[in-house]
Amino acid sequence: MPEGHTVHRIANSFNELFAGKKLTVDSPQGRFTASAKLISNRKLTKAWAIGKQMFLDFDNDQTLRIHLGIYGKWRFVKLKNEELPEVQGQVRARFFTNKDMADLRGPTICELIEPEELAKIENRLGPDPLNPDDGSQFKRFQRNISGSKAAIGLLLMNQDVVAGIGNVYRAEILYRARINPHVPGNLLTPKQIRELWKDSVQLLALGVIHGVMLTRDGFLDEDPGKPERHHVYKRNGEPCRKCKTNIVLEVMAGRKLYSCPKCQK
Ligand SMILES: [Zn+2]
Repeated sequence: MPEGHTVHRIANSFNELFAGKKLTVDSPQGRFTASAKLISNRKLTKAWAIGKQMFLDFDNDQTLRIHLGIYGKWRFVKLKNEELPEVQGQVRARFFTNKDMADLRGPTICELIEPEELAKIENRLGPDPLNPDDGSQFKRFQRNISGSKAAIGLLLMNQDVVAGIGNVYRAEILYRARINPHVPGNLLTPKQIRELWKDSVQLLALGVIHGVMLTRDGFLDEDPGKPERHHVYKRNGEPCRKCKTNIVLEVMAGRKLYSCPKCQK
């Protein structure tokens, strides 16, 4: 499943290719046909994201909500002579101008939502470290963490607590902060919570720029498939780069979690 930086990159692509332009929207697969008619030939005002959810605002006050889930995928194609490429697989929604096309396949959610529902979703989702923050987003993060007795390893994965962090960033951010994933949120110090937020903002922003999850300083040139980019993620059984203790793997709420037992006591 993509982490938040991927979704923000897609929203950025949408803005670059389509914002301010009239889009044709249809549903080759047929499952989105009725809704597609409501936004087709309307101008895309902007694309934006909270965590793993993307929103497309159209100039007739319609908002399209998209969540890729595990199987969802985008395909962007530059058109030659305005010719649309053949449909590949089950395309739920196709968006195009005479120059560019984006095909959406297999999303968990692709639906038009009313302003009230959008407001509810915005209220429910936690703050996204990638969105502009006047300080209120950090305060929400602080409240959500310090007000919970759940383990910080669980809280960082909970999209209602903080939106956009997934399994890789969770493990890496906790390692970088030297925090044991089992510590309850309400036992973290204000300084630790501030550092977690600051580091999330920094790492996710790097992810948007480079398109890969970089969590070690100075590793921009590594092959994206190699675990050398990470401190602990998928490094179970290998020595911690700092203290040489073997990185351990455990399962927390059904998801694999990696940490250094010594550095993250
Ligand atoms: Zn260590």
